Amino acid sequence: MTAGALSSTVPTTPATAAQQPDWPDAGHVRAIRAILRERPPLVAEGEIRALRDALGRAAAGGGIVLQAGDCAELFDESGPGPAARKIGQLSEASAALRAASGLPVTTLGRIAGQYAKPRSAPFEQGPDGGTLPSYRGDAVHGAAPDPGLRVPDPRRLLTAYGCAASTLAELRRSWATVEPAERVYASHELLLLDYEQPLVRDGEQGPYAGSAHFGWIGERTRGHDGAHLALAASISNPVGVKLGPGVTPGEAVALCRRLDPDRVPGRLTFIVRMGSARIATALPPVVAAVARHGSRALWISDPMHGNTIRTRAGHKTRATDAIAAEITEFTRVLRTHGQWPGGIHLELTPDDVTECVTGPATGAWDARLPSYRSACDPRLNPEQAAAIVRHFGALL
Ligand code: PEP
Ligand code: MN
Repeated sequence: MTAGALSSTVPTTPATAAQQPDWPDAGHVRAIRAILRERPPLVAEGEIRALRDALGRAAAGGGIVLQAGDCAELFDESGPGPAARKIGQLSEASAALRAASGLPVTTLGRIAGQYAKPRSAPFEQGPDGGTLPSYRGDAVHGAAPDPGLRVPDPRRLLTAYGCAASTLAELRRSWATVEPAERVYASHELLLLDYEQPLVRDGEQGPYAGSAHFGWIGERTRGHDGAHLALAASISNPVGVKLGPGVTPGEAVALCRRLDPDRVPGRLTFIVRMGSARIATALPPVVAAVARHGSRALWISDPMHGNTIRTRAGHKTRATDAIAAEITEFTRVLRTHGQWPGGIHLELTPDDVTECVTGPATGAWDARLPSYRSACDPRLNPEQAAAIVRHFGALL
């Protein structure tokens, strides 16, 4: 399979709610939603506002954003111990970017809620060659490649809330030892409506998502008439939208109008994930149109999701040369248009895994990846992550 086939999924005429699990029992889901509505929000409105202000400063060129973490968090790796290691890695990477750029760095973990995955195909191949329903995240079903465990279970939405709460408790513990500007905030894809909608709360500035400080809408769910955009438009949190290589300038401007009609600094982030082969042609007209519109959106580069390839053995992988090349081109295009290349969005782990390949994509076909542990997309290991962060830092 080519990178294009995996990464160029463009939203078509949106179904009302794309990428939702096929829950077997609607009544059970309603009961779980009612329980979630009674739970306290996981984040506070004041925290959300502080983050939005920091992102606004970054959008204006006065800062950098690092958004990073697992592709898919696992329930088994939530809670204090694993969270502390992940927060430690994020904080180190941010410190490196701060040292390289001389600018404040705002850090967003893909953490404390990244338990749901959109998928391009309804089925995937298991290790024994058989097919099974694609893994949609621990909030939906188990990752183990057993068809019996891939049945969506809405009780997992409550487990997701509990795991997010204990991870957030660790995040807040980490805040006690750092300056407010150096906090790691929580973010995830706003995907599972049966989790997100019941956690929306009324705040002083209108409704806000109580599930995370920052949420993004993915490449597969950003259709204009879809339920995900309606959710993002209704909340006051800072929100992101992934932009793949198929996005049109008109779509990007429509996203500005819909999600940031008042042009609030820090409210809207475009997360560009076009792939190293396509970004040079796909991004310029989009940046030009958004700039002409007068948007104050923050632009960051996700150099992971447009650079996915498959090895002969069937693993998804990504080559660090392609990842670095996309960041370089992103930075060049933004600068050419007088805009600020405001940050990067990475999938990484503090564990010493072999999921991405170091070096060029040629050879990845045959790569041996003996320590492949991701439940979904391939992550940078600590050494690879540090090299990519240094690469971006050197461009600033
Ligand atoms: C992701 O961030 O893991 C993801 C699925 O991204 P995208 O929507 O850009 O494909
Ligand atoms: Mn991913």
